[in-house]
Amino acid sequence: MTRDSHKIARRMSLIDASGIRKVFDLAAKMKDPINLSIGQPDFDVPEPAKRAAIEAIQKGFNKYTQTQGTAELREAVAKKCAAEFGWKDDRLFLITSGVSGALLPAFLALVDPGDEVIIFDPYFVMYTHQTNLCGGRPVLIGTYPDFRPDIQRLADAVTDKTRMIVLNSPTNPTGAVLGEREIRDIAEIAAKRDLLILSDEIYEMFCYDQPFVSMAKHYENTLLMRGFSKSYGMTGWRVGWCTGPRPIIEKMTMLQQYSFVCAPSMAQAGALAALDCDMSPQVRAYRRKRDMVCDSLKGKFGLVRPGGAFYAFVPAPGGDATKFAAKAIEKGVLIIPGNVFSGRDTHFRISYATDDKTLQKGLDILNSL
Ligand code: PLP
Repeated sequence: MTRDSHKIARRMSLIDASGIRKVFDLAAKMKDPINLSIGQPDFDVPEPAKRAAIEAIQKGFNKYTQTQGTAELREAVAKKCAAEFGWKDDRLFLITSGVSGALLPAFLALVDPGDEVIIFDPYFVMYTHQTNLCGGRPVLIGTYPDFRPDIQRLADAVTDKTRMIVLNSPTNPTGAVLGEREIRDIAEIAAKRDLLILSDEIYEMFCYDQPFVSMAKHYENTLLMRGFSKSYGMTGWRVGWCTGPRPIIEKMTMLQQYSFVCAPSMAQAGALAALDCDMSPQVRAYRRKRDMVCDSLKGKFGLVRPGGAFYAFVPAPGGDATKFAAKAIEKGVLIIPGNVFSGRDTHFRISYATDDKTLQKGLDILNSL
């Protein structure tokens, strides 16, 4: 029965979750699937971070924190940035409920109806949906077949309506990592119109073949976002952070005050301890898994070697990813068809953030298809 009081706001018709929901619906019916679909690390939160969060709870650190996050965590993040970028200014930092908790206030604060947001395709799903929610228009720039940004196409896509460029390196879902030349070229295009670049660097630690290059190092008008979910296996703890132009961080902080209020207090205490933990063994293990995926699939699938994150974006045999994913799922392997992340449906995403045995089993089945 539909009731007037259940009428849904029009903006909700601008987003849908059909692609990914189909995968989850299928998965729910499976017994012990080989799950190569999950975008989260299989390693656990480092012990010192767990201890700090438990201690915080036991000491009664269970109330709201300041909207912008605890002073200790903001200072620690600022210190890290000062070391990495040489920043000496007293810039604002906002501790958020994951990078997701930074993205939504950013889009709400920045995108007006009719504004264009430039997004490289394939992309992380939130970017297009949040643009749409704000009444903006995602302007997609395809990066197929090698997932490198085409600088001329970027330059051509900029119009009077362009509000910002969204960048995500290392990239979900392709694993592509932008090099210094590419970062500089993109910065140069943005600088011509003083465009804002939103740089989502949540996978910054997972860079396997070259040092990570941050847009924030090369372009001042950058809204920088990083998180703890992937780097420290804390997806459920919900902590991230954001910094950038002061007026934007101020408005995002105001939105946080009226929505999420603050990131979880004990998780902020845990995140502070996490910053001192060495995650290089985990990153090395993921590099090895990346090699495992490439060695196994290169013969039959001809994939582009991913340089970071923990995903591979693999051409689907026959060029129909939804069909191929359905076949894989029939055989017990969960993968995600490319149309969830792209205007095209020619590739599928696998996440190799799982144990070696499960990964090998999954790869063997994919090869057998
Ligand atoms: N950005 C990218 C590119 C991601 O892949 C994800 C998660 O998958 C997020 C942001 C959100 O992460 P979280 O909200 O857990 O920090």
